[in-house]
Order: sequence, then structure tokens, then C-alpha cells
Amino acid sequence: SSKEQVDMMKVINDTLSLLREKARKKSISLESDLPVSLPLIEANKDQMSRLMINLVDNAIKYTPRCGKVKVRSYNEGEKLILEVEDNGMGIPEKDLPRIFERFYRVDKARNRKLGGTGLGLSIIKHIIEEHQGQISVESKVGEGSKFIVELPLNA
Ligand code: ATP
Ligand code: MG
Repeated sequence: SSKEQVDMMKVINDTLSLLREKARKKSISLESDLPVSLPLIEANKDQMSRLMINLVDNAIKYTPRCGKVKVRSYNEGEKLILEVEDNGMGIPEKDLPRIFERFYRVDKARNRKLGGTGLGLSIIKHIIEEHQGQISVESKVGEGSKFIVELPLNA
């Protein structure tokens, strides 16, 4: 996929605008913690939007009413860091190694009413690999989840 110089500040703000209504319907506060400026990154802009939308969509979806979702981004050396944190239902430790697999969904019972195909995170993983980046997750059942993405400024 073709790469260009991408302004992640804009990608993040567009994602927040797009998903604000979805968060509002669940009375979830959608917050951001962003620096005054971020360096541009060499990336595919559509894929960066897809990445942010899928992460923030999950955070809203798997967080109960009146919860909180926070997006952070900052520059660290030759990398750009993106963090999406929620105080939602969390992911059991035994499922963590598998959530990036295609069609994998934690606990079919809890997920049935939320809907979805189990593809969001596998798409994210593919996008991050195309950009020589990394993704990690910290999560605790009943407390919340934090997805951390590291992307090189020059892919
Ligand atoms: P789709 O994204 O295709 O609509 P999905 O959200 O179920 O479906 P993924 O985004 O791939 O699929 O996520 C896989 C599973 O990981 C989810 O079913 C959910 O159980 C778990 N998960 C993902 N993000 C979170 C989160 N922020 N909090 C709790 N669980 C999560
Ligand atoms: Mg999803």
C-alpha cells in the first residue's frame, strides 16, 4: 500500500469526531491527551484511520455505560506512540495471546449481544506489520484495557 507523510494528530481528531456520537449514546467520556504537535509519519493514511477507528471502536464497545476512553499520543525518539485506554470489561489473561487472530472473540456469550466478526484486531495487526510497528496490550478483567501501538516515523 502506498505511503505518504501522515499527520496523526488529524487522524486521531477525525477518529474522535467520528466516534463521539457512539460514545455519547453510552454516556462514555471520550478524552484525548495530545501534545501541541506530533512529527509526521511515513504511513498509509487510510490504514492509519482504520487502525485508530478499530481501536477506539473496541474501547467504546467493550466499556459499559458511563465509562471512560482515553486516547494518547506522543513522540519517543524515532517512534510515534499511540495509546487507547478504557476502564471497561477487560480481557482474561488466557485470551490475550489470541485476540489478534482472525475471527477470535473472547467468550461468545458476553460477545453475542455486542455483535462483531472478530476481525478488527487482526486487521490492526496486519496494518502494524505493514508499517514495521508493534502493538501490545495490558488488560485486567473488570478494570479495563490499554492498547499501545509503536510506529516508526519512517517506515
Ligand atoms: P469486529 O471488530 O470485527 O467488529 P470484534 O470487536 O469482536 O469484532 P476484534 O476487534 O478483533 O473483534 O476484537 C477481538 C476480541 O477482543 C473482541 O471480541 C473482544 O472480546 C476483545 N476486545 C477487543 N478490544 C477490547 C477492549 N478494548 N476491551 C475488552 N475486550 C476487547
Ligand atoms: Mg472490534
